[in-house]
Amino acid sequence: MDYTEIESNVKKLKAELARGNSFGERITLVAATKTQSVSAIEAAISAGVDAVAENKVQEFREKSGFIGGCPQHFIGHLQTNKVKYLVGKIALFHSCDRDELASALSSASLKKGVVSDVLIQVNIGKEETKGGYLPERAYDAFKRLSETPGLCVKGFMAMLPESQDEGLLGGLADDMRALYEKARKENPDVCFLSMGMSGDYRLCIAHGSNMIRVGSTIFGARDYGAGSR
Ligand SMILES: *Cc1c(COP(=O)(O)O)cnc(C)c1O
Repeated sequence: MDYTEIESNVKKLKAELARGNSFGERITLVAATKTQSVSAIEAAISAGVDAVAENKVQEFREKSGFIGGCPQHFIGHLQTNKVKYLVGKIALFHSCDRDELASALSSASLKKGVVSDVLIQVNIGKEETKGGYLPERAYDAFKRLSETPGLCVKGFMAMLPESQDEGLLGGLADDMRALYEKARKENPDVCFLSMGMSGDYRLCIAHGSNMIRVGSTIFGARDYGAGSR
């Protein structure tokens, strides 16, 4: 896809998001940049995405030094031994999905003298293939992580299961919103519910998401073919 197309996709999305979510909140647009070149990412930044996000540490390390003028987020599963490459450089970790990772992020942050902003990832559909705290454990995790030095809990992240059943998906998204509201009463730092990708962001913002992570709607279908790894 050429760069003018990327820019026009971002502008269209931003116009659509300008209405806000179902609670009248501003929606933060995060571009999911896996497999994309630095120039493609720059096109998205100049068109006005709020943040860019990789989901693999290797890709982040290859590209991050060339990307400026935009907060960089991390949205993928993270091994504890790779935390050191990210802490201090990542403006928001979306995928804090287990206590072991929270402790690793905490110690690396304390060591570097920074506070890392994190979202607690919730496995809302209880899928074996996905990471995250089980929904019934998520509030306790929120309480624990809110007290963890070196971390600032900014909210929650979830990926809805693949399903055509909008009633089911809407219900799960509502459960996430309820968890977010409960946490926000407890901790005023909580301000993000990161939920929604290209296939389901409209449903998610209709059910209270205020941060979406969008890849293919901005950049076109991903090419995982020869050369990209
Ligand atoms: C790739 C990715 C997205 C965006 O996916 P699209 O369907 O291309 O919009 C969102 N969240 C995570 C965690 C991802 O890895």
